[in-house]
Amino acid sequence: DLLTLCLKKAQHQQVTKQDSRPVFNISSEMLRRAMETDQFTLVYQPIVPADKSMPVAAEVLARWTHPELGPVSPDQFIEAAERFHLIEPLSLMLLQQALSQLKLWNRQRVFVNLSFNLSALSLPDTLFMNRIMQIAQEQEISADQLMFEVTESADFTDLASSIANLASLRLRGFSIAIDDYGTGYANTQQLLRVPANRLKLDRSMVSNVTEGSQQFVILANTIQMAKQLGLSVVAEGIETQAEANALTALGVEYQQGYYHSRPLDAEALIQYLQQ
Ligand code: C2E
Ligand code: MG
Ligand code: MG
Ligand code: MG
Repeated sequence: DLLTLCLKKAQHQQVTKQDSRPVFNISSEMLRRAMETDQFTLVYQPIVPADKSMPVAAEVLARWTHPELGPVSPDQFIEAAERFHLIEPLSLMLLQQALSQLKLWNRQRVFVNLSFNLSALSLPDTLFMNRIMQIAQEQEISADQLMFEVTESADFTDLASSIANLASLRLRGFSIAIDDYGTGYANTQQLLRVPANRLKLDRSMVSNVTEGSQQFVILANTIQMAKQLGLSVVAEGIETQAEANALTALGVEYQQGYYHSRPLDAEALIQYLQQ
């Protein structure tokens, strides 16, 4: 029932909050050094279409292994990069890395589209957004191969410029996904503002969903709404066969999660695509 669900959610949130507590402070110096010495790598998590004849895409996820401290969680270093105003150079560096990989795959006739996360803080920056399109052009990536994922946050400040910049990406044929839908600031207001063509349902909306539950009702209606708004839907954080089946039954077009595949390095992604 609803009460049990709420209690479970509260417990879950406590756990994730603890998990995301920084174990050390990331300094601006550490981040700069990491960027200069290529400490960032990329992994790719398959986004699997329900209709198996559709091509598989992959979300680009950044990884940072500090030489002494070991792996640092993306939630922490992305937040730190935003705080130190290093998110733009970091994003450009990662996009460059991802798209030169994609260019190579295109040459090797390995067919995959990529989805790349953008920080909401960068969206008002027209120079940054132009640079993104320039990198895609330099790497000879056609716009229909690339989707940008954005999450609205409290800091989605300069709304008018952000929307204008996203609209110009759309006009050039790039796709825009609203990420983490169903959490925090990613709400229905955003659906009216962001020129998106895809909605990514957050894991919290889909995990442990069972037919007939209240969660199921909300999910079914959200999917219905997205479709009526002309958005394609992807569910993220699918961990079980039961979740996968429920979402397919609800008409979700794409799924992403550990059930289908963990994020993979470039080589493992090729193997995944070929099997
Ligand atoms: P996100 O964009 O919502 O990415 C999905 C996150 O869910 C990833 O965490 C992914 O590894 C994780 N995930 C995927 N499937 C499952 C599942 O079945 N179960 C569970 N529990 N988790 C799953 P990750 O890689 O730790 O990234 C966390 C967040 O950091 C991302 O959330 C994104 O907001 C941000 N991030 C990662 N890479 C980048 C980047 O290159 N640029 C920017 N701006 N943000 C990034
Ligand atoms: Mg994402
Ligand atoms: Mg997400
Ligand atoms: Mg998420």
